[in-house]
Amino acid sequence: MIPYGRQSIDNRDIQAVVKVLKSDWLTQGPNVPAFERELAKSIGAKYALVCSSGTAALHLAFLAAGLRPGDEVITTPNTFAATSNMLAAVGAKPIFCDIRLDTYNIAENKIEELINKKTKAIVPVHFAGQPCEMARIRRLAKKYKLSIIEDACHALGARYKKDNIGNGRYSDMAVFSFHPVKSITTGEGGAILTNSKKYYKKMILLRNHGIYKDRSGKNVMVELGFNYRLTDIQAALGISQLKKLDKFIQARRRVAGWYKSELADIKEIILPRELINNYSSWHIFVVRTAAPSDRDKLVKYLKDRGIGVNFHYSAVYSHPFYRTHGYKNLKLDAEDMYDRTCLTLPCYAGLPRPWVRRISRIIKAYYEKA
Ligand SMILES: *Cc1c(COP(=O)(O)O)cnc(C)c1O
Repeated sequence: MIPYGRQSIDNRDIQAVVKVLKSDWLTQGPNVPAFERELAKSIGAKYALVCSSGTAALHLAFLAAGLRPGDEVITTPNTFAATSNMLAAVGAKPIFCDIRLDTYNIAENKIEELINKKTKAIVPVHFAGQPCEMARIRRLAKKYKLSIIEDACHALGARYKKDNIGNGRYSDMAVFSFHPVKSITTGEGGAILTNSKKYYKKMILLRNHGIYKDRSGKNVMVELGFNYRLTDIQAALGISQLKKLDKFIQARRRVAGWYKSELADIKEIILPRELINNYSSWHIFVVRTAAPSDRDKLVKYLKDRGIGVNFHYSAVYSHPFYRTHGYKNLKLDAEDMYDRTCLTLPCYAGLPRPWVRRISRIIKAYYEKA
């Protein structure tokens, strides 16, 4: 089975990890701050804080932003459940905004009508690595005094206009994940990038049980925190992977280009579009079937032939947990259409050209047969 995504690990990555295993520090050694420095430098933000997962990073960012019970936060239903799960975890209510049917990102022109007195923040998700319309979202946040926390888990290495996603020009914080299917990996891992010293200090505390050492070396607990630390083993892998980020993104962009030319003349398939201002990191390559009735049959046809297609994503509000927690009847038109027609084709840095050709030929064969 060809998977929809996978990591690229080479000998240097392996050597970096082995070196830490032979050292004195397995957790919170010198590689953690070194990885943070490299990340901040590479993205162009003042502070980077690494932690145990992208989900933990979302939790830390939402707590640092002061989100709490009674607050409403506008986000997209076309995302991994962790985005809204962590809003729910801090007691905030996710307000799902419909998506654009060209980029599958949050529809920035439908955000304003959802803002009320309880609204505290906007959480855009750069779906598939394609940046949201951040200038417009920034203007709204200024007008209504809202925070912006970007779920940039798909978008390490992506650019909006001239800005690296995560550099803080358009948001207060940006969250990344280093899960194996993401731009770079540490096994599990995540990070928050910010230019705010206040948020940064708060998250350092919360990452480590809310405990700091006072001048006499005594542990003092001042906030309800967690153990969300990244290990030195993971950080060493992260430093080694980060060196290859540009190469990985270029490879993903090539894969997307191959698909686009191979699939260009199948009129039953809708290809993803990259907007002119955007440099996508192509975390995933999502196509849609023009006819909703085609989708499940095509998926089965591909799976039967060893192609690991996937769905990103079913509307978050359609999951049983959300249905029974206040979203019983929610239905958004564009998201609903998207949900019934999307499928994710394999896309990752190490995917060979002939495999893309083979996958594309199988899709062609399906439609010629039909
Ligand atoms: C991967 C991902 C996360 C969670 O990251 P983990 O590191 O797996 O916890 C959150 N949001 C989005 C959009 C993701 O793709």
